[in-house]
Amino acid sequence: DLFGQPADYPAIKAICDKHGLKLISDSAQGFGCTIDGEHPLKWADITTTSFFPAKPLGCYGDGGAVLTNDDELAQLIDSIRVHGKAVAVDLKDKTFDHDPKYLNMRIGLNSRLDTIQAAVLIEKLKVFGQEIEWRNRIAARYNEGLRPHVAAVPDVPTGNVSNWAQYTIEHEDRDGLAAHLKAEGIPTAVYYPIPLHLQPAYAHYPRGPQGLPVTERLMERVISLPMHSDLDEATQDRIIAAVASFKA
Ligand SMILES: *Cc1c(COP(=O)(O)O)cnc(C)c1O
Repeated sequence: DLFGQPADYPAIKAICDKHGLKLISDSAQGFGCTIDGEHPLKWADITTTSFFPAKPLGCYGDGGAVLTNDDELAQLIDSIRVHGKAVAVDLKDKTFDHDPKYLNMRIGLNSRLDTIQAAVLIEKLKVFGQEIEWRNRIAARYNEGLRPHVAAVPDVPTGNVSNWAQYTIEHEDRDGLAAHLKAEGIPTAVYYPIPLHLQPAYAHYPRGPQGLPVTERLMERVISLPMHSDLDEATQDRIIAAVASFKA
């Protein structure tokens, strides 16, 4: 769910069904996104999300969650989170007269969410719906103001809701625009200058003969502008004016 827009789950799910695959969705940037009002879990067996501070629902350190509607999977994830402890599905035909965390059924992790991070998230979750609305209002203003000045603004397909984890445009002279905005005191970012399939760490994996032409074109053109739920209109207008004033 890159940049907050839901992936095309109906299309991906059809491929999974055809080949008997499980669908695990990387929703690290997508918490709160929907398709026709439906959460990605309508299609995915599991979604993962991140509460890293830069994400739409950020805590004050590291955190994350795994979501599923499947009760048995939820138990297994709970087990893996705490060193592979025994959970109800493991104890169906067993007796263990001690705390089940002392019976290790599988190799797990120490992946508990810190209480302090949970306390932050509980409060932020209460206003998260409101924040998504604000972000959508800000994104709509950006789209309207920037559309005539850039190669593409991020339009969201009808029926989809983005949480606007990032607001990312395309520009033919992306690096020129970045330098211009920097001189104007406006921070920007390029996510991700090298896509996964071109990373050295993945070089030994097979790759289609054409590579990934859409990704490889976009990696030269995308640039993300400041986006957060309390970006005020005056600041936003200054950013839009700065982009409009750039002559490639
Ligand atoms: C941030 C991010 C991750 C990694 O999340 P962690 O904070 O390391 O758990 C994975 N995938 C995407 C798309 C991300 O944006």
